[in-house]
Amino acid sequence: MVGSNQLIRSFLWRAAQLYPDVDIVSRTGDAVHRYDYRAYGERVAQLANALAAAGIEPGDRVGSLCWNHHRHFETYFGVPCMGAQLHTINPNLPESHVEHIVGDAADELLFVDPHEREVLEALADSEAFESVQQYVVMGDTVPETSLDPVVDYESFIAGHEPSYDWPDVDESQPAGMCYTSGTTGKPKGVEYTQQMIWSYTMTTLTPQMLGITDHDVVMPLVPMFHSTGWGFSWAATAAGAKQVYPGPSPDSATLARLIEEEGVTLTAGVPTIWIDLLEYLETHDADISSLERIVAGGAPVPESLIRRLDEEYDVEVLQAWGMTELTAIGTIAHLPPDIAAADVETRYAKRQKQGRIVPGLEFRVVSEDDTEVPWDDTTVGELYVRGPSVTTEYYQRPEANAEDFAANPGRDGDGEGNEWLATGDLVTVDAEGYISLVDRDNDIIKSGGEWISSVELENAMMAHDAVSEATVVGVSHERYQERPLGFVVMVDGASIEPDALRAELSERIRADYPKWWTPDEIQFVDEIPRTATGKFDKMALRGSYADHDVETDLEPEE
Ligand code: ADP
Repeated sequence: MVGSNQLIRSFLWRAAQLYPDVDIVSRTGDAVHRYDYRAYGERVAQLANALAAAGIEPGDRVGSLCWNHHRHFETYFGVPCMGAQLHTINPNLPESHVEHIVGDAADELLFVDPHEREVLEALADSEAFESVQQYVVMGDTVPETSLDPVVDYESFIAGHEPSYDWPDVDESQPAGMCYTSGTTGKPKGVEYTQQMIWSYTMTTLTPQMLGITDHDVVMPLVPMFHSTGWGFSWAATAAGAKQVYPGPSPDSATLARLIEEEGVTLTAGVPTIWIDLLEYLETHDADISSLERIVAGGAPVPESLIRRLDEEYDVEVLQAWGMTELTAIGTIAHLPPDIAAADVETRYAKRQKQGRIVPGLEFRVVSEDDTEVPWDDTTVGELYVRGPSVTTEYYQRPEANAEDFAANPGRDGDGEGNEWLATGDLVTVDAEGYISLVDRDNDIIKSGGEWISSVELENAMMAHDAVSEATVVGVSHERYQERPLGFVVMVDGASIEPDALRAELSERIRADYPKWWTPDEIQFVDEIPRTATGKFDKMALRGSYADHDVETDLEPEE
């Protein structure tokens, strides 16, 4: 006898039944919207009815280009519970990436925040958008737009029944989807089945992961288009916790105010957000004493941040490491009893590591000769993971699947199935099983939690007549964790001056890519070091420039 399917709808049902009066708060512009799980459940049902009326059927894909607010949260349950699939799209991506991923996923309907519609307007007539039948703008009016057909969200759901007979979808039915940056080539799609999200959520609720309960006030702050917002919306609902959605691009003042006014106990985000918040708190009065713990991850978390939040604000910083392929978090730097009882420096040293594997997942660290490395805190190998919330393939990408998944890594490779994900992260493991990330074996750069493709930047630079070779590596940066640093070999006898060339290259990159992609610095060199196989030796470059400070003129809100 087996139990029934592991379905997301159980979280929604329980919250509406057991916590009907618990609040869901959402910042919308200057106002704050507030309702409870009872009203939320009714609107989710209205949304599902509206989707069905618009022709969306189980198995169809529905995309969203939205920030964290109550309407986007409604799609998190409304779309998958009716059997369809929510494909969250990062509106910050370059236009060419959005074009590729909407076309690849063949989304049938797109939800979009009003101020993110521009990228869709530019692409709506492209071949890639042929599948898109309907645009729904998040709000209660439709702004001036060329999107067609288009309707505002409130009109879309208005008049529909506030109940829905949720179907018995199979747990292997994809419920979510998110694209991750490819090292080279196009972004790769990761599908999340009902079961993956269900099991990820249950792990999230365990005390050894986030231990979310109905006593918590949870602020889902990680953008909901990044790895399911690290699953906070599902877990908080499953727990019946009060939720606080901060709206589009919240600044430090907004975050501090929401924490104080709503009594937030738990939130999560990339280190840059916490660095900015601390800076803000230095010069502004705000009471963040309700905050008990913060999950910081997506990029290395500086020890100074962990220390300051602990010492000055009594906030526990839990470093987490995760990937889109893992639904979200895979390791977290909790302290087991013996380390929790150790001296303060030992505790900080452990917290600064990427963490220990969460319950339910397994990992191996494998060296280049395909053997597992010892847990000696020194020997480096590639991190492999597997488990119920880890994907075993990319959507329609057999060539990437062959590279990124393995049957039995570290133990001669043979085995059944390709369920081990090769993460591309190079790590060491200490005696207690804490993983430390030392490098990445791919060359993408992660600035403030957002990817930058070094390959695309290199192509853009090498397209200039005066450039003979160009490469870009990520160098560490206090606020953004990593920033791009460019290297150029000029064509012999090029007539342009280096400064003028620098300016032209920056201008070209700025024209085609988001502004934080532009390298803050471009160095002119006689040659770029190469590996034995003739590729640019980026690892060597990263090593030589490990202590190099780049100055960026990016503004905090970018
Ligand atoms: P996310 O949306 O969660 O950032 P991505 O799939 O875009 O997920 O990025 C995953 C990659 O980010 C990891 O493979 C790793 O290189 C990096 N990363 C994630 N968390 C950390 C961390 N705590 N410290 C260092 N790097 C991290």
